[in-house]
Amino acid sequence: MKKMKLLSLLLLATISLLSTSAAAHDDRCNDSSCHVWRGGFNTGDKVSDLKYWLDSSVSSNNYTSILDFGASSWNDISANVSLSKVSKKDDSQVRAYVSYYSQFWDGQWEPYYTDSKGKLSFDSNNFEDWSVGNIRLNLQQIGTSSSSFKKKVAVHEFGHSLSLAHNNDDVSVMKPGDLSFNVPQKADKTHLKNRWK
Ligand SMILES: [Zn+2]
Ligand SMILES: [Zn+2]
Repeated sequence: MKKMKLLSLLLLATISLLSTSAAAHDDRCNDSSCHVWRGGFNTGDKVSDLKYWLDSSVSSNNYTSILDFGASSWNDISANVSLSKVSKKDDSQVRAYVSYYSQFWDGQWEPYYTDSKGKLSFDSNNFEDWSVGNIRLNLQQIGTSSSSFKKKVAVHEFGHSLSLAHNNDDVSVMKPGDLSFNVPQKADKTHLKNRWK
């Protein structure tokens, strides 16, 4: 009887470990196993007033609703996270562009931090406190894709702007490539809430 109790306790412990494994490595880190980046927009621990701006290349290529979808998909998940659109570039932290790039990425996130000399520097390690960042959508790769996939790319890139890294371990919109969904999943919401709390 004692053995049975121990076994069921062990089983319970295993089950609860499994169910929390998605959140087990959510400390701000920057090695390749991490699902969240240490780097990010440094407005305290919150990004409750992050502003995005759409370059004229967005509307001229008909990507306005796709990028608006990408931004708004991350709203209403955490009280500490909110993205809203502004019409002036200088009022924004996140800037979106649509163009034809002869490279094999669908979308790209380029964060910049202000270095000790006051110059904007590319944060290749996603480690710094960002000042601004660019989202780029690549017409070469997604120009003829379904609008559902275009939206997935936009959601994914805005996820990067909120310090979410790639995630091949969970059901996640932060997994690269075409997926059967295009909005933040349970694991994405968990990571977002853990990053901004
Ligand atoms: Zn994780
Ligand atoms: Zn990505």
